[in-house]
Amino acid sequence: MMKIAFIGLGNMGHPMVLNLLKAGCHVSVYDINTAAANALKSAGATVANSMDECVKGAETVMTMLPAGEHVRAVYLGDHQGGVGLLKMIDAGTFLIDSSTIDPASAKLVAQEAHSQSFEFVDAPVSGGVAGAQAGTLTFIVGGTDSGFKQAQAVLQHVGKNIFHAGKAGDGQMAKICNNLMLGIIMSGTCEALSLGMDNGLDPKVLSEIMLQSSGRNWALELYNPCPGIMEKAPASNQYQPGFMAKLMLKDLGLGLEAATNSQSPIPMGTLARNLYAFHNAEGNECRDFSSLFEFYRKQSK
Ligand code: NAD
Repeated sequence: MMKIAFIGLGNMGHPMVLNLLKAGCHVSVYDINTAAANALKSAGATVANSMDECVKGAETVMTMLPAGEHVRAVYLGDHQGGVGLLKMIDAGTFLIDSSTIDPASAKLVAQEAHSQSFEFVDAPVSGGVAGAQAGTLTFIVGGTDSGFKQAQAVLQHVGKNIFHAGKAGDGQMAKICNNLMLGIIMSGTCEALSLGMDNGLDPKVLSEIMLQSSGRNWALELYNPCPGIMEKAPASNQYQPGFMAKLMLKDLGLGLEAATNSQSPIPMGTLARNLYAFHNAEGNECRDFSSLFEFYRKQSK
């Protein structure tokens, strides 16, 4: 039985742990939010009271945390001198971080892990909460060939497509490009649906038309931002996340940071980032990112 320690049990971590348990893994869990950890007890997870307790005896540690600062704190220790998990794990423990973070933090953690003879890969995901629940996530791995092979053995229980993007940090870079595209697609989808509504079209009919036309995209197919069109989409559930708007703003910010470093033009991504900044400033940070649709509706007559 595979022994896995899982840290970060939010919207994504929770369903990923459920799939690891279903696959017959022994999973010990930890989150600074104790309610999030306790919620997995009845499914068979071992709830740890500390990170130390969680990772002891684990063959693999997986993390699913909000941003780079949390990943650095968990692996390397926090600013107040707290101890990171690299100092807690047993020799030979394999490390997978599936959070979406800046490539520089991913490379730093990989370097520190390797210097202490641990294998580490960055393996951010795409597919959202629905993909995490269904076990169909796409994993985008950055790391060595042997790290990738080791990761496949674990990630096959939670995902469907597992890609090797390249060296340490490259998984994050590919994920950032994907989410830059997602932010643009979601903004464009909200914009087109809102324009149609302002001109008397039924958004459901318009969605069906665009789904069979050249405007077809992931948001229209699986995540329609207009309420009442897709029963299971966050839009039809008061925009409960899902994928929080603050995490989309973080990812578009990571895109901007990368573009600044490489001096790449990203006018569309920059615009999408600014739209999310305005939208979030109105108290939408913790709502699903598809709630950007309301931003468009508010600007309409
Ligand atoms: P979330 O905020 O719901 O969950 C993060 C969890 O990490 C929380 O439960 C939080 O308490 C915990 N945490 C924070 N600091 C911690 C620490 N020091 N020790 C232990 N636990 C800690 O976020 P999420 O939606 O699950 O997303 C997680 C990551 O996955 C993010 O980087 C996000 O960008 C990425 N992601 C999310 C989605 C999605 O649809 N939600 C899709 C793809 C990728």
